[in-house]
Amino acid sequence: MPSFVITEKCDGCKALDKTACQYICPNDLMVLNKDLMKANNQAPEMCWECMCCVKICPTQAIEVRGYADFVPLGASVTPMRSTDAIMWTVKFRNGMLKRFKFPIRTTPEGSAVPDGGYPTGTDDLKSPLLFTEPESTRCGELPKL
Ligand code: SF4
Ligand code: SF4
Repeated sequence: MPSFVITEKCDGCKALDKTACQYICPNDLMVLNKDLMKANNQAPEMCWECMCCVKICPTQAIEVRGYADFVPLGASVTPMRSTDAIMWTVKFRNGMLKRFKFPIRTTPEGSAVPDGGYPTGTDDLKSPLLFTEPESTRCGELPKL
Protein backbone atom coordinates (compact mmCIF):
# COMPACT_ATOMS: atom_id res chain seq x y z
CA MET A 1 0.00 0.00 0.00
CA PRO A 2 1.47 3.41 -0.96
CA SER A 3 2.40 6.14 1.44
CA PHE A 4 -0.30 8.30 2.98
CA VAL A 5 -0.17 11.40 5.15
CA ILE A 6 -1.89 11.65 8.51
CA THR A 7 -3.01 15.23 8.08
CA GLU A 8 -3.39 15.97 11.80
CA LYS A 9 0.33 15.34 12.26
CA CYS A 10 1.62 17.14 9.13
CA ASP A 11 2.70 20.75 9.66
CA GLY A 12 3.88 21.29 6.09
CA CYS A 13 7.45 21.33 7.38
CA LYS A 14 6.66 24.73 8.82
CA ALA A 15 6.28 26.45 5.45
CA LEU A 16 9.74 25.72 4.09
CA ASP A 17 10.07 26.07 0.31
CA LYS A 18 10.45 22.37 -0.22
CA THR A 19 9.20 19.95 2.37
CA ALA A 20 11.27 17.04 3.61
CA CYS A 21 9.03 14.52 1.89
CA GLN A 22 9.22 16.43 -1.41
CA TYR A 23 13.00 16.57 -1.14
CA ILE A 24 13.46 12.86 -0.56
CA CYS A 25 10.88 11.13 -2.78
CA PRO A 26 12.70 9.54 -5.74
CA ASN A 27 9.51 9.72 -7.80
CA ASP A 28 8.55 13.34 -6.96
CA LEU A 29 5.21 12.15 -5.65
CA MET A 30 4.76 14.35 -2.62
CA VAL A 31 3.08 17.74 -3.01
CA LEU A 32 2.25 20.46 -0.52
CA ASN A 33 -1.08 22.23 -0.35
CA LYS A 34 0.14 25.68 0.71
CA ASP A 35 -3.32 26.85 1.76
CA LEU A 36 -3.77 23.98 4.17
CA MET A 37 -0.03 23.43 4.81
CA LYS A 38 -0.55 19.71 4.38
CA ALA A 39 1.32 17.32 2.12
CA ASN A 40 -0.09 14.42 0.17
CA ASN A 41 0.97 11.71 -2.24
CA GLN A 42 -0.26 12.93 -5.64
CA ALA A 43 0.07 9.61 -7.49
CA PRO A 44 -0.20 6.68 -5.09
CA GLU A 45 -0.13 4.19 -7.96
CA MET A 46 3.44 5.33 -8.72
CA CYS A 47 4.68 4.82 -5.15
CA TRP A 48 7.06 1.93 -4.74
CA GLU A 49 6.82 2.03 -0.93
CA CYS A 50 10.48 2.76 -0.42
CA MET A 51 9.71 4.40 2.94
CA CYS A 52 12.11 7.32 2.34
CA CYS A 53 9.38 9.87 3.05
CA VAL A 54 8.28 7.91 6.12
CA LYS A 55 11.79 7.97 7.54
CA ILE A 56 12.50 11.65 6.84
CA CYS A 57 9.22 13.16 8.03
CA PRO A 58 10.03 15.10 11.21
CA THR A 59 6.55 14.65 12.65
CA GLN A 60 6.00 10.96 11.81
CA ALA A 61 3.04 12.06 9.68
CA ILE A 62 3.58 9.58 6.83
CA GLU A 63 2.85 5.89 6.95
CA VAL A 64 3.34 2.98 4.60
CA ARG A 65 1.96 -0.41 5.42
CA GLY A 66 4.93 -2.47 6.58
CA TYR A 67 6.16 -5.27 4.38
CA ALA A 68 4.58 -8.54 5.42
CA ASP A 69 7.92 -10.22 6.07
CA PHE A 70 8.53 -8.08 9.14
CA VAL A 71 5.15 -6.59 10.07
CA PRO A 72 2.19 -8.99 10.24
CA LEU A 73 -1.28 -8.03 9.05
CA GLY A 74 -2.94 -5.41 11.20
CA ALA A 75 0.30 -4.06 12.64
CA SER A 76 1.91 -0.70 11.97
CA VAL A 77 5.54 0.36 11.84
CA THR A 78 6.93 3.80 12.64
CA PRO A 79 10.56 4.84 12.21
CA MET A 80 12.22 7.51 14.35
CA ARG A 81 15.64 8.85 13.36
CA SER A 82 18.32 10.26 15.62
CA THR A 83 21.77 11.48 14.64
CA ASP A 84 23.34 8.03 14.73
CA ALA A 85 20.51 5.51 14.71
CA ILE A 86 17.02 4.70 13.50
CA MET A 87 14.44 3.10 15.75
CA TRP A 88 11.58 1.12 14.24
CA THR A 89 8.53 0.74 16.47
CA VAL A 90 6.19 -2.04 15.48
CA LYS A 91 2.71 -1.99 17.00
CA PHE A 92 0.97 -5.34 16.70
CA ARG A 93 -2.79 -5.62 16.39
CA ASN A 94 -3.05 -6.91 19.97
CA GLY A 95 -1.37 -3.71 21.18
CA MET A 96 2.05 -5.25 21.84
CA LEU A 97 4.99 -2.98 20.98
CA LYS A 98 8.42 -4.02 19.78
CA ARG A 99 11.30 -1.71 19.02
CA PHE A 100 14.36 -2.34 16.86
CA LYS A 101 17.28 0.08 16.78
CA PHE A 102 19.96 0.14 14.10
CA PRO A 103 22.98 2.40 13.52
CA ILE A 104 22.87 4.68 10.48
CA ARG A 105 25.59 6.40 8.47
CA THR A 106 27.06 9.46 10.10
CA THR A 107 29.05 10.85 7.17
CA PRO A 108 27.90 14.19 5.72
CA GLU A 109 25.08 14.28 3.19
CA GLY A 110 26.39 14.12 -0.38
CA SER A 111 29.69 12.55 0.62
CA ALA A 112 28.84 9.03 -0.52
CA VAL A 113 31.15 7.67 -3.23
CA PRO A 114 28.85 5.75 -5.57
CA ASP A 115 31.50 3.30 -6.78
CA GLY A 116 33.23 3.04 -3.41
CA GLY A 117 36.43 4.29 -4.99
CA TYR A 118 36.87 1.09 -6.99
CA PRO A 119 37.65 1.12 -10.69
CA THR A 120 34.57 0.58 -12.75
CA GLY A 121 35.48 -2.90 -13.91
CA THR A 122 34.56 -4.04 -17.34
CA ASP A 123 32.29 -2.58 -20.00
CA ASP A 124 31.50 -6.10 -21.19
CA LEU A 125 27.82 -6.59 -20.41
CA LYS A 126 28.20 -10.35 -20.82
CA SER A 127 30.91 -10.56 -18.20
CA PRO A 128 29.99 -12.58 -15.10
CA LEU A 129 31.91 -10.08 -12.95
CA LEU A 130 30.08 -7.63 -10.75
CA PHE A 131 30.68 -3.88 -11.10
CA THR A 132 33.70 -3.61 -8.79
CA GLU A 133 35.17 -7.06 -9.33
CA PRO A 134 37.78 -8.35 -9.17
CA GLU A 135 39.26 -5.48 -7.08
CA SER A 136 36.56 -5.55 -4.42
CA THR A 137 37.09 -9.26 -3.77
CA ARG A 138 40.68 -8.53 -2.76
CA CYS A 139 41.81 -11.86 -4.08
CA GLY A 140 43.49 -10.66 -7.25
CA GLU A 141 42.07 -12.80 -9.96
CA LEU A 142 38.82 -14.71 -9.68
CA PRO A 143 38.90 -18.44 -10.42
CA LYS A 144 37.89 -19.32 -13.96
CA LEU A 145 35.23 -21.93 -14.75
S1 SF4 B 1 7.74 15.75 5.68
FE1 SF4 B 1 6.02 15.26 7.06
S2 SF4 B 1 5.54 17.21 8.10
FE2 SF4 B 1 6.81 17.71 6.29
S3 SF4 B 1 5.29 18.18 4.69
FE3 SF4 B 1 5.85 16.00 4.48
S4 SF4 B 1 4.28 14.91 5.68
FE4 SF4 B 1 4.19 17.06 6.31
S1 SF4 C 1 7.31 5.66 -0.15
FE1 SF4 C 1 9.02 6.29 -1.49
S2 SF4 C 1 8.12 6.40 -3.57
FE2 SF4 C 1 6.41 6.38 -2.09
S3 SF4 C 1 5.92 8.54 -1.74
FE3 SF4 C 1 7.36 7.91 -0.13
S4 SF4 C 1 9.41 8.43 -0.90
FE4 SF4 C 1 7.97 8.47 -2.64
